[in-house]
Amino acid sequence: MTPRAPKFLAPYFSCLSAVLLLATSAQAHAQSQWQAHGYDLQLRPDFKQQTVSAQAKVRLQRAPDASSETNTLLRLNAPELDIQSASVNGQPLPANKQDGAWTITLPPDLAARQDLTLTLDYSARAGEGLVFGADYVYTAFHTCRWLPCVGSDLGRASLSVALDLPEGMSSLASGQAITPTHAPSAPSLQRWQQTQPYPLYTLGFAAGHFTHAQQVSPARDGRDGEEGLAPRETTLHYLGLADQPASSLLAKFKSTPAMLAFFSAKAGLPLPHASYSQLLLPGGVAQEASSYALIGRRMLDPILETEQEDWVIAHELAHQWWGTLISCERWSGFWLNEGITVFMTAAWKQQRWGEAAYQREMDIATRGWQRAKDAGFDKPLSWPGDYPHLSLKRAIHYSKGALFMHALRQDLGEATFWAGLKHYTQSHAGRQVRTSDLQAAMEAKAGRSLQALFDAWVY
Ligand SMILES: [Zn+2]
Repeated sequence: MTPRAPKFLAPYFSCLSAVLLLATSAQAHAQSQWQAHGYDLQLRPDFKQQTVSAQAKVRLQRAPDASSETNTLLRLNAPELDIQSASVNGQPLPANKQDGAWTITLPPDLAARQDLTLTLDYSARAGEGLVFGADYVYTAFHTCRWLPCVGSDLGRASLSVALDLPEGMSSLASGQAITPTHAPSAPSLQRWQQTQPYPLYTLGFAAGHFTHAQQVSPARDGRDGEEGLAPRETTLHYLGLADQPASSLLAKFKSTPAMLAFFSAKAGLPLPHASYSQLLLPGGVAQEASSYALIGRRMLDPILETEQEDWVIAHELAHQWWGTLISCERWSGFWLNEGITVFMTAAWKQQRWGEAAYQREMDIATRGWQRAKDAGFDKPLSWPGDYPHLSLKRAIHYSKGALFMHALRQDLGEATFWAGLKHYTQSHAGRQVRTSDLQAAMEAKAGRSLQALFDAWVY
């Protein structure tokens, strides 16, 4: 494949699987009385059987929009899991699979509670959501193929993971490592913790015989005029399989520190975690997770021939703020995750590679949007209906979304636009957002209504 091909295709394939969730997540949310707000997991991958056996303690709260009527059925939106046992406070509970979901029958006294902790023993098999190689494993969308999702996968939950691994393996998971996690000093039981709640679709883990390199990005002290940047030194980890020595990882990911400085300045916030990891894998994966990213060699290796082909590093890193730290409240707001991220990737390229590189990204987005127009399916960005094809959904959420951010930038001018984006980011860090939140932040800095512009593009 030529370097140009993945470049052209890339924005439309990156993170694409998230949109597959739309129908099932809406259905699950509508039927769920409960929402998970914390997962404590013990995971043991079996590389021969290509399974993961797990014990999960799932902390549940009654969903804010739950009916006041007591429902004794607790629904898990995870039909592919093999659940061996379920219990609350040591009391075994019946679990049955029906209608594409697991249901657990609660006694009335437990069903009436506002919160409870459910213990599950289960196993997950290789497939979409849990990808095995000979000596590695990683999770991918759809999260609910390996995690017992309760409630909407847009919901935010904390996570702790204890990975029981063969000797010599390294690991990666959402949040921060609380044991050594890189061979050869890592123990066989490796622990990670994501303390702040993040969207379920950004929670995950990986393990394998990884090569490793790291860089330390220095703390920023705000003296460059960027307000709101707490001093924080960031450790950047680059991981790969055996055919990717540390020197190769450092060469391919060398632009990461400069990108980190660019995005944190534009966000007005440091990277949410004290470290960020990028795992280079075979194939075309490109997926953000809380505190790390999975990047396929097909997406990144063109950088060896053309230094400007750095979009996938930028795209997944930008998601640490837009799409992960700040996440859409509904799937109709998915453009806030992807449109802003595609735009921010273009803005990075403009700053690093010049005006032509920015214009090239806008041209790619224009061609993407044109596909929706040609199909007679040019929808407002936050249109809540069903798209007939994923490519059309991506044409709107990724391409038209990025072009709308460009249009906002042109309308507001440089200083006001970037002040508005920073205000939006700082105001909603750690929360779910809807389009009206972006509009309000931009209007606050513009000092005028932007209703006509938002009406033309979004509503
Ligand atoms: Zn993305």
